[in-house]
Amino acid sequence: MQDLTFVTPTICKLMDVESPVGSNSDHIETLTDKARTDNIAKVDKCLIYAPDAVGMHLYEDHRLEFDKILDFAPLSVRLRSMIPPKTPVCFASMFTGLKPDSHGINIYSRPVLKCATLFDAMILAGKKVAIVAVKNSSIDLIFRERQMDYFSEDYDQQVTDRTIQLLEMDQHDVIVAYHQEYDDALHKTAPDSAPAIAAFENHINSFTKLAGVFNRSWSKYNRMLAFAPDHGAHFDSETQKGTHGLDISEDMEISHFYAINKQEQQ
Ligand SMILES: [Zn+2]
Repeated sequence: MQDLTFVTPTICKLMDVESPVGSNSDHIETLTDKARTDNIAKVDKCLIYAPDAVGMHLYEDHRLEFDKILDFAPLSVRLRSMIPPKTPVCFASMFTGLKPDSHGINIYSRPVLKCATLFDAMILAGKKVAIVAVKNSSIDLIFRERQMDYFSEDYDQQVTDRTIQLLEMDQHDVIVAYHQEYDDALHKTAPDSAPAIAAFENHINSFTKLAGVFNRSWSKYNRMLAFAPDHGAHFDSETQKGTHGLDISEDMEISHFYAINKQEQQ
């Protein structure tokens, strides 16, 4: 089954950029097939929305929320998370195309990655990259020390606001926006508690809002949109709280949702 290491080579292939060294040599054919069918030779711009812990454990009880994602990103791709399914392990694999033993984050630790990443590949190809993340989150820390723009925000709402601003300014080619409220809530309560589900719904609403701006501001480009979480979560009966990090379906099974949209005629 395809896993998170398929994401980077797929984005590189779609944007006609050479994959980072050692990256998975396979890609997600659903997406390259879609680009070919629609005569999109090359994707110019990419927005990746990465909500923490929004896995398929939420799907059965919240299908209508997932339908809202599909309205903007209709290409759904089942993926396996990485082992252990912890945030820095997963995002390191998602944005390098490398397995944990190769990128070096195989426990919960957050060093700056020294290996080549999606962002390095994009920078080498002359693209402008921005990461917009909650301050001191894994994504905010492990991809530092590159010639790209880092926006460390107080929390999810500020991340959304900043990302909208960047889309409207149109000075970047690849933007990653990271949200963490659902993960925060599930660790304090449970994966299906009322506050956790409210946080999950906030992520869906943030995504649809960003997707609207993405389509308006980048209408003249061939563009790619991704809803790309890192892992799922389960309820730990010992602590009576939500958690993740095990090789079990609730933690490991995720779906990504993509759109590849053709530029609108001027
Ligand atoms: Zn977590």
